[in-house]
Amino acid sequence: MTRTSITIGNFTVEPGQRGLGYLHAGMLAGRTEVRIPVQVLHGAADGPNLCLESTLHGWEPMGAEIIRRAMLQVDPARLRGTVYCLPIANPFSIEFGGTVESSGQRVNPADLLDMNRVWPGKLENAWLTEQMAHVMWQEVLSRCQYLVDYHDGTGACDELPVAFPHALPADAHSSVQATLADGVGGADTGRVEITPEYIASMNEQIRAMAIAFGSSVIWWRDGPVNPAMISGQCLIQGIVPLVVEAGGGGIIDETIDQGVVCTLNILKHLGMIEGQPELPPRQLMVKNYVVYRSRTGGFYLQEPGVKLGLEVTTGQLLGRVIDPVTSEVQEECRSPVNGIIISRRIRMPLNPGGYIAHIADSDSVIWQRG
Ligand SMILES: [Zn+2]
Repeated sequence: MTRTSITIGNFTVEPGQRGLGYLHAGMLAGRTEVRIPVQVLHGAADGPNLCLESTLHGWEPMGAEIIRRAMLQVDPARLRGTVYCLPIANPFSIEFGGTVESSGQRVNPADLLDMNRVWPGKLENAWLTEQMAHVMWQEVLSRCQYLVDYHDGTGACDELPVAFPHALPADAHSSVQATLADGVGGADTGRVEITPEYIASMNEQIRAMAIAFGSSVIWWRDGPVNPAMISGQCLIQGIVPLVVEAGGGGIIDETIDQGVVCTLNILKHLGMIEGQPELPPRQLMVKNYVVYRSRTGGFYLQEPGVKLGLEVTTGQLLGRVIDPVTSEVQEECRSPVNGIIISRRIRMPLNPGGYIAHIADSDSVIWQRG
């Protein structure tokens, strides 16, 4: 079959070409256009349709940089299938972070909604965030068989690449129905029938994709599905989703290069580009992953040597929260588990509830390689 051109948003892409443009998603009060940037690499040969989406949360923009760098390494003339990139899915949330020096905020400042709680979006009687999600769902996600959803450690933390696959639980159909009541998004109950065969096939594909991503740690989750999250909506719509995190603090470090390798691994795994995924010497899949947050505020001073990838033991001191004036120690932050530091705080000022670390619990390993 000959490949045909794709028209999306305000542009058309021929097979073997790269296209850049925007999805139109409405007009603001002062008639500023709401537009969402899109990059499409339309392969010359047949293959899957993959969506790479980042920055649903504006304080987590590093996925956009990983996608940008990875896609510069892909030649559409040699690509099988099509890659749809939504690197800045929630533009206002990165543009308006409170001050000129902040790194964005979690919600859309236009209506204060979390764009990862409104899928598949709505057009009528809908908030702006829901309308934006609707446009992305109709124009991009509905064309795809696979999704990678990028998050990062926020402005406060650095983070190794890590895959957070969310699989379907055995009782998926009833648990999906139970989570549709928060008043935004989630109106579509899915285009596939969730049978035991569907659950098994979907979970196997998610697991394979998570391993191929090539992060040293994979956090396997199979709790109830929230269909208002983009990954949850994909799960009930027949699109294989993978949630990942990589990088943070708004800084360029080695985690960005690692994230690029992981992204290209997904394209290799799906047969879209040549080569085998580049995997680290050792990979662990864990059931328990601690997102450790502070109880109190102050200045956070990390213990020397607490680096990404460090193996820690239960009770090991990671850092202290001190009173910035009196030097009094307000909180000793100790690892609650034996594990591996996947993300750690790099920002000193800290409010209660601030991220201290992500720690993969090495006593909860359910699969490993190497
Ligand atoms: Zn996020």
